[in-house]
Amino acid sequence: MTATDLSATDLVAAVPGLAPYLRPATLLHPDAAPPHPGASRIGGPAEWPAGEPWPHCTARHPDDDHGYPRRAPEETPATSFVPLALIHAEDAPHLPWPDGTDLLQVLWCPNDHDDLQGERYYYGPAVELHWQHAAALAPATPPPPLRSDEEYLPRPCALRPEQVLDLPDRDELPEELARAVAEFAERQGIEYERDHGRADGWKLGGWPSWHVTDLIPVDCGRCGERMTHLLTVESGDGPDLSVGRHGELHVFVCPVDVAHPVGLDVQ
Ligand SMILES: [Zn+2]
Ligand SMILES: [Zn+2]
Repeated sequence: MTATDLSATDLVAAVPGLAPYLRPATLLHPDAAPPHPGASRIGGPAEWPAGEPWPHCTARHPDDDHGYPRRAPEETPATSFVPLALIHAEDAPHLPWPDGTDLLQVLWCPNDHDDLQGERYYYGPAVELHWQHAAALAPATPPPPLRSDEEYLPRPCALRPEQVLDLPDRDELPEELARAVAEFAERQGIEYERDHGRADGWKLGGWPSWHVTDLIPVDCGRCGERMTHLLTVESGDGPDLSVGRHGELHVFVCPVDVAHPVGLDVQ
């Protein structure tokens, strides 16, 4: 076996202390091709439970203020969310599916926001998770957003979901274990984070990257619990988005209740 063949399971065999950190993940591999109806996808077409209103973003958008006096929140016009990802449970069975749900829709407001998370710095789109039942959805025509940033409008993509096991960045490991991993990587002549351990790209579950800021824990704004990584949105390629100056956006979910507001981090 050459160093480049090392999988997350091989790393765990070599450094057994990593075993509790193995997490299932789904790599999405988006292709800029029309998604099959009924298949997981990035971008539209939209589906929504019949008779339920399509969600709107009522948050403040800092760009609204350019050249204008600051408006009161109740005067800020609501703008439609747009579909970012639609995921069937069979493609990511490891997600925390609430009872009776088999489909996750990730919607986002395609504008920058700067006051979604209190003290914790974040500048980017607002994100909502909707855990739904596929059979209850019907084709929908959401109103176009009143305002949008071009680089936050995804090009529709088909997905090739791949189940993998993922390991965290060294930042997430206790010091002694991080040292053991670094020593093993050096002996093998590999780079743990860049080539092995944590998988890059559009991903559900698994672990986020901390390559820009180092680890800043994401705690639930509602209950304070440490949140877990749900989705990595990557700039470029098929969906042709740009988040965080051509970086990546991480969406976190509360392990106590998936209905608590998501955590967001840009790298
Ligand atoms: Zn918004
Ligand atoms: Zn919570």
